[in-house]
Amino acid sequence: MKKNNPALFNTILLVISAAIFIASVVLLISSYQSNQEYEKESRITPSPTIAPPTIMAKPTEALLRVGSISKDVKTLQGKLKELGYYQGEIDGQFGGGTKDAVTLFQQQHGLTADGLAGASTLDMLYGPGAHTIQVTPIPSPPAIQAADIPLLVNRSHPLKDGYVPMSLVALADTLTEGLAVLKDPQEKGVDAAVQALNDMLSAAHQDGLTLWQVSEGYRTWDEQRMLFNNEKQKLLTGEGTQQLLTESAAEIEAEKNVARPGTSEHQAGLAFDITVPERSFPSTDQARWLREHCWDYGFILRYPAGKEDVTGFQAEPWHIRYVGKDISRYLKQTGLVLEEYLETLNP
Ligand SMILES: [Zn+2]
Repeated sequence: MKKNNPALFNTILLVISAAIFIASVVLLISSYQSNQEYEKESRITPSPTIAPPTIMAKPTEALLRVGSISKDVKTLQGKLKELGYYQGEIDGQFGGGTKDAVTLFQQQHGLTADGLAGASTLDMLYGPGAHTIQVTPIPSPPAIQAADIPLLVNRSHPLKDGYVPMSLVALADTLTEGLAVLKDPQEKGVDAAVQALNDMLSAAHQDGLTLWQVSEGYRTWDEQRMLFNNEKQKLLTGEGTQQLLTESAAEIEAEKNVARPGTSEHQAGLAFDITVPERSFPSTDQARWLREHCWDYGFILRYPAGKEDVTGFQAEPWHIRYVGKDISRYLKQTGLVLEEYLETLNP
């Protein structure tokens, strides 16, 4: 074996040393540059201060109201926004949105809810007692089994031809005596619904309302057909009407007051018309009681005012429909009608 060549060894050593030197220089330069950048950056970034931003200082003006335009309104809007009452722009203009926010704040702080930001409102808003908005949570729909989904009966969801509900019972046999006058002594309903009716009317009696009548319960196909035809006939013979109607026009007209056979809830045995003998029901104390309490017994006011275009019916404060307590309470809380509720289950 030959001995190592000392000249070659020296050359390699020289090359390695040179490489290390160049790398060090490059590193040094780049670190100097980033230091420079950091210094530049720190010069233009303001350092944080402990003092609160001036926007939260209390306005000096004594009364801010719709129409006010000022820096104080801006401050007010900023504070209301911070607490969650105001969603609009902080533009210093006191408009409807600001008024609503002030009103909401007042309601949640025991103040007179007039939408005027006067001394007491401003004191509360900028004082230690101000709290963030409290939002009433929207309840989630009750968990129900497929079999418990309430039957929807309306114009677009008629009952199956010949449908007869199971477990019909006579009200006369089931209701506690003296709870209500039965317009038809043979009146029937589905067992669970009649039991609920019994509970409800008993509670009403305990609340001091003792005069009740059940004007309608279960209706057979024949009864519904007869009611509908009578209504149609009335229109066709022109009693009280100027022009004569065609058969189908008369049916469309009749349907505004009487459901077509197969589309009445009464045919399902789950609905009752509750009235007071000899009285126009809507203005009675009983109507008010029903509107407030029927939900606690599994009933809903099926055709409320304001939902005519959803239900397809004029308001009927006497018509209650059994759906079970979970759903009735949920519908009371949310203000939904049956069609809307079923839509949320199956959008
Ligand atoms: Zn009815």
